[in-house]
Amino acid sequence: MDEQAHAARTLWNLLHDWWTMQPKDKRSLATADTAIRQARGEIDWLAVLPAQAAQAVLKTYFQAWKNCWDGRADAPNFKARIRTVMSVDIPQGRDLNITRVHRRWGMANIPKIGRVRFRWTKDLPVGKHADKEDRITGARLAKDALGWHIAFRVQTLEARPEPHQGTEVGIDAGVSLPLALSDGDHQDHGRPPRLPDGRADRDKWLNPQEKAKLLGLEQRAAQRKQHRGRGENTSRRLRHTYDQIKQLRATATRRAVDWQHKTTTNIARRYGTVVVEQLNIKNMVKSARGTIEEPGRNVAQKSGLNRSISQEAWGRTVTMLTYKTARHGGTLHKVPAPGTSLRCSACGSTTPGSREDQAPFVCKNPDCGWSGNADWNAARNILHLYRMGHALIPAAGRAVVRRPRGVKPATAR
Ligand SMILES: [Zn+2]
Repeated sequence: MDEQAHAARTLWNLLHDWWTMQPKDKRSLATADTAIRQARGEIDWLAVLPAQAAQAVLKTYFQAWKNCWDGRADAPNFKARIRTVMSVDIPQGRDLNITRVHRRWGMANIPKIGRVRFRWTKDLPVGKHADKEDRITGARLAKDALGWHIAFRVQTLEARPEPHQGTEVGIDAGVSLPLALSDGDHQDHGRPPRLPDGRADRDKWLNPQEKAKLLGLEQRAAQRKQHRGRGENTSRRLRHTYDQIKQLRATATRRAVDWQHKTTTNIARRYGTVVVEQLNIKNMVKSARGTIEEPGRNVAQKSGLNRSISQEAWGRTVTMLTYKTARHGGTLHKVPAPGTSLRCSACGSTTPGSREDQAPFVCKNPDCGWSGNADWNAARNILHLYRMGHALIPAAGRAVVRRPRGVKPATAR
């Protein structure tokens, strides 16, 4: 499998090289296809990749250019060995010949590998459950630190959901709370984002024993690295230690994603309208770090904040909420972010010094004096902005200002 994945990545790189060297009028899907066929005939280690997987590489590459031309993405580039997820496509479902052999295990045909077992985690339309509308149309194999995984592409007919009658909710990606909800029903995973000394806890998804093990492994790796001479290869022992560290981190990621899935499903089931903040996470992380000529201020504090933002993976939460609310008949709206964490959600004024610390918010307006969790305050502000008609970017991508009828600014809050 590893060989196939390396061949797929190399094919991408060769293809990119070929494409960018060709004069513009010679670049086409057909000429690229001919070039791939020729390469597969002449370079024997490329032939380990099944012909259809090679076709899938070309298709993905061409799609990458289309995404670039339509302004959705940057131009495709070379894939580096260390940064690329090892993956192989199986574009045709009928080659897979999936059978269920046990309550928890299934078997599938992988081209050039043979029959392999896989963990049966979801209902799949195979055998008598499959028909023209409900079937598996392909699969993709991907590798992480814990091994190879198979993901099936399924085509299915789904009834259009009834419009969700649930209430509206504003959600904030919090600093002290993972997800703060405007109605006070905050979603927490019980794993504090910060260590007792105030630093962001990078490994909060690991249990105490696992954390201790990770620390030991990191110390061992550092020690072995010291003994490595200049220009020497990484020893097999050191590589093994690195692998063990990666495995622990992969476990942590799985737990985080699992929690995200469960929480977002729950939210999509309960609420009809979900409002989130339009955040540009990339820019936030960038601005804290600054540039070499102009280093950012308070980098340590900010990067602690950034780290926990990145780790809670706000972007992924929003993606999940987008498709899950749509599936349950609800909608997701985004509102512009500025000031939501500084404004008071009870009186609407931004008074200097109101946000004393990270967690509690105390309004310094003498007529108000509202206090509460700062993340909760922001979530209430987000919902308020939506009710005032500031939802500029609906999930569907249309720029529509929507103001529900009969909601006056005073009662909106
Ligand atoms: Zn106030």
